[in-house]
Amino acid sequence: MSKRKCPICGGNLKKGTTTYTVDLEFGLVVVRKVPAKICSQCGEDWIDPDIASKLEETVAQAREKGTEFEVITYDNTVTTH
Ligand SMILES: [Zn+2]
Repeated sequence: MSKRKCPICGGNLKKGTTTYTVDLEFGLVVVRKVPAKICSQCGEDWIDPDIASKLEETVAQAREKGTEFEVITYDNTVTTH
């Protein structure tokens, strides 16, 4: 059992999901249901490095496509709106 503490406030981190938003020069990419650890005290979300790198790939793909606005669900990154 890994009971990790929030680096900001020392609160307990709970498993959950968060919405990851990236503001690109030309548009916006929103990734929903990203697995993260949520601080029960201050509400800060902490995304694991391997998940963060996958998010970067997803954002890079959106950047290549040049979409102005894209909403992606993390579980199924192929389906876009
Ligand atoms: Zn906190």
